[in-house]
Amino acid sequence: MVEIKKRVANLKMFIDGEWKDSESLETRPVINPANGEVISYAPEGTVADARAAIFAARRAFEEGVWSGISAQERASYLFKIADKIEEYADELTQLETMDNGKPLREAGFDVGDAAACFRYYGGLITKPDGYTYHVADPMQAMVVREPVGVCGLIVPWNYPLLMSVWKIAPALAAGNTIVFKPSEVTPVTPKKLFEIFEEVGLPKGVANMVMGAGSVVGNEIASHPEIDMVSFTGGTKTGKHIMKTAADTMKKVSLELGGKSPNIIFADADFETAVDYALFGIYAGAGQVCSAGSRILVEESIYDQFVARFVERAKQIKVGPGNDPSTEMGPLISKEHLEKVLHYIELGKQEGASVACGGNRILSNGLDSGYFVEPTVFVDVKQEMRIVQEEIFGPVVVIQKFKDEEEAVKLANGTIYGLAGGVFTNDGAKGLRVIKKLKSGITWVNSYHPTYNEAPWGGYKQSGIGRSLGTFGLEEFQEIKQININLQVEPIGWFSN
Ligand code: NDP
Repeated sequence: MVEIKKRVANLKMFIDGEWKDSESLETRPVINPANGEVISYAPEGTVADARAAIFAARRAFEEGVWSGISAQERASYLFKIADKIEEYADELTQLETMDNGKPLREAGFDVGDAAACFRYYGGLITKPDGYTYHVADPMQAMVVREPVGVCGLIVPWNYPLLMSVWKIAPALAAGNTIVFKPSEVTPVTPKKLFEIFEEVGLPKGVANMVMGAGSVVGNEIASHPEIDMVSFTGGTKTGKHIMKTAADTMKKVSLELGGKSPNIIFADADFETAVDYALFGIYAGAGQVCSAGSRILVEESIYDQFVARFVERAKQIKVGPGNDPSTEMGPLISKEHLEKVLHYIELGKQEGASVACGGNRILSNGLDSGYFVEPTVFVDVKQEMRIVQEEIFGPVVVIQKFKDEEEAVKLANGTIYGLAGGVFTNDGAKGLRVIKKLKSGITWVNSYHPTYNEAPWGGYKQSGIGRSLGTFGLEEFQEIKQININLQVEPIGWFSN
């Protein structure tokens, strides 16, 4: 075991460059999901705390301490943040594992990606953008990009560091000021990130962090008139609520929501590669990944062989605490979430599906105080079952059968979601043909899960609106201004003298 810390100092919020307790002085425990122990206490932010952060961000934006400096200067801060993330990589990795439960191996990848994301946006913001247009003389038309203003950023618990960085890096690069809210269950690594912001000397009020309940702090961010944009990652139900709340002040809204993504395996695929990626697709992050390949669709001629091999390998996955280097799959995030996932497993049985493996909470090998669930496989499922249609967000997969390409596409597109999807085949034309028919924003051929800072991330249908990452992710945090310049300054005489 590599565990260095069992507890971290009690947390504080970061408002206008100062570390603050909640104005109510209330706190809530932060729990290590691997053993149920209290790691720390976090301030229970209030509406007043959220407003203090919003006003600080507004003041900083209007004073131009951030939007008014050159892109190159902003980029230099982002590069310093990336360097610091790397300097603290070991500590951040340990904290992320303690905060979220994920294995050290996964947390280490997230930390590396987080540094790379700041570096990517630091580079991107100094590159040329905007357009000029050939309109009728004597006019010259052009378009420039500007920051949106004060951005409210609300993130979930499954990637406490990376989901924060996917929003904060492009928002800051574009010149916005921010009010950020981590999930109430995983505020530890976000707090370390804000310590880094302080260390590199971000001007006061540019980056503010308020902790606390979504229904209080998150709601204030979504509704307050001084917030110009709300960028949210989380569940589809919460996303709908935020969109409705933000409508009153007509904020710009960006939503990265849930998924129930299909992974289609054709009979001509490389069999072992397909099994391997299908396991990775669902059990990485213990299935608590928005793009998880939670519906595996297998061509009927190889279905039985595929299920047998998949189950054989799923049973071998080493489940344990994330800080044990031999652990391959960690716990679920919380007791409440564990109960939700176990409820879905019961529901699947009641709906008539068969459990091919797993299906239980793990209470042996000293794991009884954590929130561990066996890698679970359902077969004999029907498309209309709730375990096929709804996001379970745990290590639970359904394996369905299809007879031809047409049926594969129909089943794949047959949910309200459209986040991700994969196709495994050795027929290149078929792979691309099927991918083009998927109503999903992120897709893979003969692969599953790789994500790149350079390429856009987001969903079709009820998986969201807008895109994170890449140039698209920067544009989310920018307004577009048309500028028309008259090159011949004289009256036009439209009305008679
Ligand atoms: P939730 O929607 O429950 O919460 C996400 C964030 O929203 C949390 O910070 C939460 O606060 C806050 N929140 C809750 N209620 C409100 C409200 N009324 N107003 C404003 N903010 C609110 O999601 P989870 O944290 O459970 O995360 C899991 C979900 O996130 C899954 O559905 C997953 O698919 C999705 N997700 C999507 C991704 C994508 O890129 N598309 C990536 C990662 C996750 P708190 O919980 O602290 O009270």
